[in-house]
Formats: sequence, C-alpha cells, structure tokens
Amino acid sequence: MIYIFGVFFFWLMGEPLVEAKKQLSSAAKVLGIGGKLLSALSEPVRVLSDDIPVKLENGSVQDFNAYRVQHNDALGPFKGGIRFHPEVNLDEVKALAMWMTWKCALMNLPFGGAKGGVIVEPKKLSGRELEALSRGYVQSFGEFLGPDKDVPAPDVYTNAQVMSWMLDEFEKLKKRHSPGAFTGKPLELGGIRIRDESTGLGGFFVIEACARRFGFKPRSTSVAIQGFGNVGFNIAGFLHEAGFKVVALSDSSGAVYSKAGFSPADMMKCKTAKGKIAECYATGSGSGTAISNEELLELDVDVLIPAALSGQITSKNANDVKARLVVEMANGPLTNDADRILGEKKAVVVPDILANAGGVTGSYFEWVQNNYGYYWSYTESFERLKELMSSAVERVFSASSEKKTNLRDAAYMLAVSRVARAVELRGSL
Ligand code: NAD
Repeated sequence: MIYIFGVFFFWLMGEPLVEAKKQLSSAAKVLGIGGKLLSALSEPVRVLSDDIPVKLENGSVQDFNAYRVQHNDALGPFKGGIRFHPEVNLDEVKALAMWMTWKCALMNLPFGGAKGGVIVEPKKLSGRELEALSRGYVQSFGEFLGPDKDVPAPDVYTNAQVMSWMLDEFEKLKKRHSPGAFTGKPLELGGIRIRDESTGLGGFFVIEACARRFGFKPRSTSVAIQGFGNVGFNIAGFLHEAGFKVVALSDSSGAVYSKAGFSPADMMKCKTAKGKIAECYATGSGSGTAISNEELLELDVDVLIPAALSGQITSKNANDVKARLVVEMANGPLTNDADRILGEKKAVVVPDILANAGGVTGSYFEWVQNNYGYYWSYTESFERLKELMSSAVERVFSASSEKKTNLRDAAYMLAVSRVARAVELRGSL
C-alpha cells in the first residue's frame, strides 16, 4: 500500500533537514522571500512511502521501508538518486531532495530535485533479493517516475546494475523503451562513458578554477581527502595527474599521510589488495604514516576535501581545521556552525551544491543523449562538463563579490532565486 503525504504533514526534524531549512531561510531572508512562496520552497511537493515485500532465500517475506521525496519540479522533472542503507530516514531523504533542487538550479539544469531511499543493509542481501527489492521500488513508485516526471540515479550502495533492474521493471510496466527514465546506467543500456568519474571530475574543475583565482600552484598545493570511494578516488586521480600533492587519504578504516604525496592509483591497488587504506601508508613515496580519521581533517594542508559522509566538520572540530580551501564533495559534510567558524578563520568553503554538481550534470548529459538517441564522445562530455562547471564557478564567485557574502550564501541566492522565479511564473501560489 502506498501513502502520499501532503505538504502540511508534520515530521520530527532530523539534523540534515534542520541544516537544509536554515540554509534556505537565510537565502530567503536576503532575497526577500517569505509567506506562501517560502512555504512552497521549504516543503516537498510530494512524499511517497511504501513497504516493499521481498521473498528472501530462506522462504520468508520481509518488508523494507522505502521513500521517494519529490521536493520541487518548477524547473523541470524531479532528479535525484536512490540510496539503499540501514540508516536511511525520511528527514534525511527530504533534506537531500531539497539540496538536489538547489544543485540543479545552480547549474542551470532543466531539473527539479528529489531523492529516494530504502532502509536496508544491502550487503546482507543475495543478488536475487537485491534485484527483487530494486524491481519492487519501481512497482511501488513507477507511476510517479519517468523521463518527463522524475529521473532517479544511483546513490549510496546503489549502482549501474540496480539502475538496470529498475529500468527493466519500468519499461515492462510502461510497455515501451524509456532509457531516460533512469541515469547512471551501464553503457549497453544507454549510459555514458563519463558517468563514473563525473562527480570527481566536476570537483577537480572547481578546484582548478579556485587555484587559478587564489594563485595556488599545483606542485606546491597539498590536498587531504576524506573518503576513498567513487568521489574521493576520482578527484584524487585528477588532482594527482594535474600535479597537486595528494598528501592524505582515508576510508572508514583510518587514514594515511605522506608529505611527499601519494599516487591514488597505487593506493587503490593497495586498498583493493589489503582491504583497508590504513595499511597502505608505505605505498608510493614509502615515507608515509598511518593517522586517524580525525587527524586527517585537522592537517595543515592547503585544500581539504571531505568526500565521505555528512556532518563530519562541526562546531567541535571546525576550530582545528587548518586548510585554506575546503571543498565539500560529500553532501552536507559541514554543519552551519562549522561553516560560520571556518568563515571567521578566513577559510574559503566551496559548498556541496557547487562542488559535487558534476555528478548530476553528468546525469543530465545522459538524459539528454537518451532523449535524443544520439551519443557524444568522451571528449565531448569532458569538454561540456568543464564548460558548465567553470561557468557555475564564475557565477558563484561573481555573486559572492557583488553581494559581499561567502560562496555558500552566493550559491544559495542564485539557486533559490531561480526556483522561486519559476514557481512565481507558474502562478501556482
Ligand atoms: P562511496 O560509498 O563510493 O565511498 C565512500 C567512502 O567514504 C568510502 O571509501 C568509505 O570507506 C569512506 N568512509 C566512510 N566513512 C568514513 C569515515 N568516517 N572517515 C573516512 N572515510 C569514510 O561513496 P561516493 O559515491 O564516493 O560518495 C561520497 C560522498 O559524495 C557522499 O556524501 C555522496 O552523497 C556524495 N556524492 C556522491 C556523488 C556520486 O556521484 N557518487 C555525487 C554527489 C555527491
């Protein structure tokens, strides 16, 4: 049974939702947005929730709680990933959906924002159970999905295979091909070559643009990266290739530091062999040391890149962060208090809605190509991503100097005003 909650439904607010709403309020205040318009921007258009029954290998049936939050579609179809994780909760999904709205708006993409989640420990499911859960998600919410309605993508613990099952189920329900209904697909089903690295590559273009502005020379610029998954590994690779010194890396097992810098490719080989990055400190330069995850965040480096989880830099550790440039590749890695403290210390923070927007921009390229039925070369996608990321950086820096605000406030003002204008033009209030 599917439940659709209206916009007035009250939820206890979890931390990310509180943070997301505070960010919106502060942008709205500067933009003079209030009343019905602010309420429309604060609340999701639609919250879908369902219990997905999956027959397990032992013959029993287990229900999994699943959500799809569609925050705002004034600018175009809803867009956002689906995560499979035991700690998924509705408030977090709502916050992530809202951030997607601002991210797409900031990038000038013709998309609104959404997010999905299922409360599940996917590592405990067999392949068949995972497929049944993925198909069940589409059976529950398929009516609300589609290339011109809502376009999901992979997120934490979902991948191209999950998107393939979801697309197949969707096409069976609709009885037609519809590759643009999901992004992050394998190449054979309409995916694009740049997808795996688009988030890391987009972040790299942002750092390159910042380095040019601040006069950072790659060879004398040290970088510490928290998280060595898709985003952390790819951005580390692009930075290393461009000559930046990647001096610290971490995963959930711990962190490593080397003044001379690491080769991300060698580190990935070692992590794959040993299972933990903490065991790889002697890889590459041979002069590294193992450090704690907390110490990585507090290293005296030029650039710090949180690329793992939300809420990593808070009022408790922000005073100890020494980096001059903090680039939020994870979603919501800094709390609002931490952001304020870093601002007081004159550190520059590139907000997540800009820094990690390469991912959704890559998804946009995939959707465009699916809709057209015409596919670009890798170089074409690379160049277009560079162009869109660089012009977004320019817009944010210009707004920041014009309005005399930090980059986050500037990015929010640009994004929120674009969505607000679209809502007003539609005259739906
Ligand atoms: P991933 O699952 O591939 O990798 C996450 C990494 O973080 C892993 O190496 C894991 O070991 C590490 N990690 C977990 N807990 C840690 C801790 N306490 N300290 C240090 N490392 C820790 O995930 P991903 O796709 O790389 O995403 C990372 C972040 O970027 C998430 O916040 C995600 O929402 C955000 N993001 C990802 C994309 C994308 O396209 N993948 C796009 C936009 C935003």
